[in-house]
Amino acid sequence: SSPLKLTFVESASRAKTLPESPVEVAFVGRSNVGKSSLINACANRKQLARVSNTPGRTQLINMFRLDEGPGSRQRPSNPSAGDDAELLGTVVDLPGYGFAKTSKSIKGDWPAMIEGYLLEREELVMIFVLVDGAIGPTKLDVQMLDWLRFNALPHTVVATKLDKVKSSKRPGRKKELAAGCQLDPGDVVWVSSTKGDGIDRLRSLVRTHLL
Ligand code: GDP
Repeated sequence: SSPLKLTFVESASRAKTLPESPVEVAFVGRSNVGKSSLINACANRKQLARVSNTPGRTQLINMFRLDEGPGSRQRPSNPSAGDDAELLGTVVDLPGYGFAKTSKSIKGDWPAMIEGYLLEREELVMIFVLVDGAIGPTKLDVQMLDWLRFNALPHTVVATKLDKVKSSKRPGRKKELAAGCQLDPGDVVWVSSTKGDGIDRLRSLVRTHLL
C-alpha cells in the first residue's frame, strides 16, 4: 500500500474551532508512544508530524487532509485558494495523554479538550489507540480503552515499536498486550515505524475509513 498523501491543514488548541471535515480518523495515545513517528511513517515523510524526545510537547490537535480519492480532483491547484475548499477525509493527531512533567496542565486539560472532541465529533469514524508494544498497555491505556468502550466509540488498538520486542518474545508479548486490552491477539495491529512492519496494513485501514 503506497504512502498516505497527507497534507497538514491546521493545528487547533480547542476541538470546537476545528474546520469541517466529511470523515475523520483520529490517533490517540500516551505521550512518547510513537504517534508522530507512526503518522510520518504512514505518509513516508520525515517531519509531517513532529517527532520529539520531549514527551508532552505536542499539545495541539493537528489535522491532516488525505489528498487521495475522488474528492482530491476537485481541489484547486492554487494552494492559497484552497483554504475555503471543502476538506477531504482527515487524519487527526490528538495530543498525547497522561504526561505531566513539563506542565501540570497537560494532564489536567486533556480530558476536557479531547473527551469533548471524541464524544462530539460526528465525522469521526475510527479512533486508533496507540499502545507501546514493548511495555503496554499501561494503566492509562486501559483507562482510555474502558472509557472508549463505555461510550461505544469505534476504536482499534495499534501496538507500536514492534522492533523493540525480541523475535523470541513476540508471541508471548502479543498475547499479553492483547489480553491486557481485553482483545484477541488478531484484533491488535502491530507496527514498527523504524522497521516498517505493519505500516501497509495501517495505511489500508486508514484508507478503508476515509476513502
Ligand atoms: P509521540 O510523542 O507519541 O508523538 O512519539 P514520537 O513519535 O515522538 O516517538 C517517541 C520516541 O519513540 C522517539 O524517541 C522515537 O524515536 C521513538 N520511536 C517511535 N516509534 C518507534 C519505533 O517504531 N521503534 C523504535 N525503536 N522507536 C520508536
